[in-house]
Amino acid sequence: MLSSEEIRSKFIEFFQGKGHTFVPSSPVVPNDDPTLLFTNAGMNQFKDIFLGMKAKKCDSAANSQKCIRVSGKHNDLEEVGVDTYHHTFFEMLGNWSFDSYFKEDTIKWAWELLTEVYKIDPDKLWATVFAGDETDGSEYDAEAARLWPQLTGIPKERVLACGKKDNFWEMGDTGPCGPCSEIHIDLGPEMCDMQHVEGHKCAVNAGCARFIELWNLVFIQFNRVADGSLMPLKAKYVDTGAGLERICAVLQGKKSNYDTDLFMPIINGIENLSGVKYTSSLKSKSDIAMRVIADHLRSLSFAITDGASPGNDGRGYVLRRILRRACRFGRVLNMHEPFIYKLVPALVDKMGGAFPELKARSSHVQTVIQAEEASFGRTLDRGLEMFTQAAEKAQDGTIRGEDAFQLYDTYGFPLDLTSLMARERGLSVDTDAFEELMEQQRNRARAAQKSNSMLSVLVGIDLPETDDSLKYSSTDIKAKIIASV
Ligand code: ATP
Ligand code: MG
Ligand code: MG
Ligand code: MG
Repeated sequence: MLSSEEIRSKFIEFFQGKGHTFVPSSPVVPNDDPTLLFTNAGMNQFKDIFLGMKAKKCDSAANSQKCIRVSGKHNDLEEVGVDTYHHTFFEMLGNWSFDSYFKEDTIKWAWELLTEVYKIDPDKLWATVFAGDETDGSEYDAEAARLWPQLTGIPKERVLACGKKDNFWEMGDTGPCGPCSEIHIDLGPEMCDMQHVEGHKCAVNAGCARFIELWNLVFIQFNRVADGSLMPLKAKYVDTGAGLERICAVLQGKKSNYDTDLFMPIINGIENLSGVKYTSSLKSKSDIAMRVIADHLRSLSFAITDGASPGNDGRGYVLRRILRRACRFGRVLNMHEPFIYKLVPALVDKMGGAFPELKARSSHVQTVIQAEEASFGRTLDRGLEMFTQAAEKAQDGTIRGEDAFQLYDTYGFPLDLTSLMARERGLSVDTDAFEELMEQQRNRARAAQKSNSMLSVLVGIDLPETDDSLKYSSTDIKAKIIASV
């Protein structure tokens, strides 16, 4: 059985063998791109080449890119743990052509790697091509539709034409874009996890775990201009992405990505610390908790390694939310003391070879995670009690906005954590009322900040900055001001 290390290397070596340059993964925290909280695809670091703003350094490249999808256009947080193939952190294997090869080689090589190197049964594979879209005049990708059967021998019936949502890639409203072809695998009817959904029929892109998307091949051949029309690009690009964890599950004969060697060492670590056994069940509460914790540990460790840290806004708050979510799932396993940081060595042991930066910063990562766990741990149990009361008070299945706000303000529960716990009980949260209270608090903080700076000028002292002051109620701030004066 191939290990994840071998599967990753075989991908890179395969493309090196076809003349590609290995370009290491860019950091998962894109410090040079303010439009992006986290790197969410392999193409991110090549974006400026596609936009014509940067010269290419090679004709074609390949790597395994560290990706996080918890914000913006791609947010897979809700899927984590409840399905077996979406993670917040994952590795995207990819190959790129910077105006050298195009559709033909891309399709031929993807097929060769999957069926000859990885030896996946070709009869299980399906391909998709862009169907065209009348609303914006984009055309059916007849070229790809012809190439698939011709180059791979896949029967025409297993080449499906699909719409814009899955098969047309754009970076924004304008700019480079183009049709894509995806490769999906049919894992058999027993893998469907949507039998309970009325009218569900297993199919490619139907959302069940029977058909899983393995690889997306994007053919960047147009520039969308301001009036919405598509102009052919002079230079053509290829951008592909395949999920390493999904390929590992397929090649290792596992029903879930979490059963592969990428996750099992972490899950075993959680079993050892908690004394709870992992049973690979989709529905078991403790199994879901273990999957979420293993997933979140990976995101946290890679993001902290690459320079992010939990905090009160932006990227930092995303990390704080993930960590608090993981802590709360720890309670499901009866873990009441900081423990997530103890799993870092298992992760480093597994992935420090491919990503040496993880090894280099592992003690920093542990310290940051432990400190956050300890600080949230102080209010978590009382918050959980308050949540139970709020859930009992819920009317028409909705938890009051003021309760969600108190959970946030006093116990540090991010709104998405309260919403998740509500969902687990079949309840929802009045998020409009919550947002209104948040807005009122922001206004109070702003007003306090104003009087803050006026007072500072008067008495020449430094008081907390705006973001920090959000942690305190306005009465706290007043008390601080008075105390400092
Ligand atoms: P899906 O439809 O399964 O959500 P996607 O279409 O959003 O995937 P792409 O943006 O095309 O994914 O990314 C390329 C590849 O990365 C996918 O084919 C898949 O193998 C992998 N991938 C995408 N999202 C995740 C994730 N959250 N966890 C693990 N692998 C992922
Ligand atoms: Mg997706
Ligand atoms: Mg998809
Ligand atoms: Mg896709």
